[in-house]
Amino acid sequence: MKHLKILLVLFLISSCATNTNDPNLKLYVFDCGLIKFDDISFFGLSNEDTEVRELFVPCYIIEHDQGSLLWDAGLPLSFVGKGKIITRPGVEQSYEISLIEQMEKMNFKIDEIDFIALSHLHSDHVGAATMFKEATWLVQEPEFEAAFSPSPIFDLSLYEGLKSNKRQILNGDFDVFGDGSVTILSAPGHTPGHQVLLLDLKAFGPLLLSGDLYHFVKSRELKSVPDFNVNAEETLESMSKIENIIATKKATLWIEHSLDLSQTIDLAPAYYD
Ligand SMILES: [Zn+2]
Repeated sequence: MKHLKILLVLFLISSCATNTNDPNLKLYVFDCGLIKFDDISFFGLSNEDTEVRELFVPCYIIEHDQGSLLWDAGLPLSFVGKGKIITRPGVEQSYEISLIEQMEKMNFKIDEIDFIALSHLHSDHVGAATMFKEATWLVQEPEFEAAFSPSPIFDLSLYEGLKSNKRQILNGDFDVFGDGSVTILSAPGHTPGHQVLLLDLKAFGPLLLSGDLYHFVKSRELKSVPDFNVNAEETLESMSKIENIIATKKATLWIEHSLDLSQTIDLAPAYYD
């Protein structure tokens, strides 16, 4: 009988431990480059709308009890350590320490990242993606099709290797770990399968990572659609879908490219939980 009681207590303790709703979610933010523009008018803004000319380029790692996710992969790794690179007239990009090196310093193993999801496949979001060969790629079907069509709308050379990753094709919103703590939200328009990420952080609260739904704080205020955008109507619908979710969840929105924001948040090895 005594043994039975001990077993029962052990069972209750272990079932409490496994039934906990706390997935120990942690968000790490990495500096994956900087882009400077002389002229921002192709973002659907006038140069008078804002004085901001520099965009931060982040990468994020999300740790969860059930696995880990890389969200956005930064500027191309070939830019690392090259100083300021003029990628076209009026556009300068730089990337000091690669995501891979930053991860190594923190003892993160690239082969142990379980999932990789990119807000979209523009060159400032895919940089290190092909290094994560063991990760399952979570990609919206229209993005995948545009990426590997006979005339891809993105720079194929930057992400072609992802084709050999395990992948999960998405058609809409997707709950990555099945507990509502990490949710990919479909937000097409900027690209055919653009997506944003909603995190339910315990201490910080709900947090939404914008992808390129907005590039500037001013883009959100003015609901401006950049010239380099595949479907303006869809972009505006995605903005209203995501704004509704932000309002309902009382979520914080991080505009990923905001340099001002990047200077107020704690970069890795610090984390948000
Ligand atoms: Zn971008």
